Amino acid sequence: MKEYLDLTKPVSLYIHVPFCTTKCGYCAFYSLPEAKCGKNDISSYMSVLTCQLEALTDELDFPFHTVYIGGGNPGLLGAENLSVILNLACRRGKSREVSMEINPETLDESFSLLLDRLTRISIGIQSFDPDCLKILGRNATVSQCERALRLLQDFRLGSGLVFNADLMMNIPGQTRSSLFSGIERLASYTPEHISLYSLTFEEGTQLVKTQCPLGEDEEADNLLRAWEKLESLGYEQYEVSAFARDGHYCMHNLVYWNLGQYIGLGPSAESSTGWTSVISSRENEELESYLRNPSFNSTRLSLDETIEEYLMTRLRTKWGIDKAEFSSRFARDFDQLFSSSVRRLDESWCRNSAERFVLTREGVLVLNKVLLTLFMSL
Ligand code: SF4
Repeated sequence: MKEYLDLTKPVSLYIHVPFCTTKCGYCAFYSLPEAKCGKNDISSYMSVLTCQLEALTDELDFPFHTVYIGGGNPGLLGAENLSVILNLACRRGKSREVSMEINPETLDESFSLLLDRLTRISIGIQSFDPDCLKILGRNATVSQCERALRLLQDFRLGSGLVFNADLMMNIPGQTRSSLFSGIERLASYTPEHISLYSLTFEEGTQLVKTQCPLGEDEEADNLLRAWEKLESLGYEQYEVSAFARDGHYCMHNLVYWNLGQYIGLGPSAESSTGWTSVISSRENEELESYLRNPSFNSTRLSLDETIEEYLMTRLRTKWGIDKAEFSSRFARDFDQLFSSSVRRLDESWCRNSAERFVLTREGVLVLNKVLLTLFMSL
């Protein structure tokens, strides 16, 4: 792995846990509902993953910048297995952030065992409206969601843990007042971070068979109102879907949005290594092939492709493109490269100063249009 990394830059670790209790109706990620799991799937997964982690941490003699265990629902591995993973992931020293995702129905007191390692837990609440939870095909009930949030508040006491909760909006049938009361209800648990996603209708999911998306204008208007609502409750929007209180940004996600280096382990994990032209790798998509042969399929991106990736991720954030950083990373001048494209953009979509190119909220709503215009300059 070392030969693919720029060892002068930080390296993060992502671990993909593919197991879920049931399959949510909107989910297009690779995941394996419990009913489809074989008896030994979790123990086989654990032995392959821990071998990979041991080999990786033998080779890399420095701590990961951040560690993130995502899924799926990592909680289904149980606190003891997760403790083994965390101990291996952190064996070279302390990371700036160690996060784990978990679903509300799975979180219980046993996970307090992990609080000496974990610095952040992310929980998928999605909605406090039972009808919305049903449309989404979520497994947890409203009372399980509330119990889990109370437990996270308890975990937080004295441990320094921070927590994120995911909410979903633009759900068919969801009124604006139901959305706003959901945001307020979640904020009353004072999570340090809230991720607010607009429901997407992905090919092949159960959702597209039974529901229709809202119109584009209605979705965009709802988003603007919801962003304002979160801001009024003290949450700063620092990325399209990410809101933090008191600067509690998600360090691991910042690595993605800065196109930093991360190594992904697990069936459908992705990695990105290198700096000026990155190598993008993906492990095997399915558990079975991962267990047979955990290996990466890698593609080296050209400089222009790397710049495209960088624009796609950076322009999602409130920091946008720092022009000095762009030229030191890619040895290209942002203004020379993109000025003709920037002139074609609507003025209300961006702020373009000598130092930075940043999208406004209106610009973020038409991010794909902005990107396609910028890509024409490459
Ligand atoms: S818990 Fe997450 S990964 Fe699992 S099915 Fe639901 S949305 Fe997909």
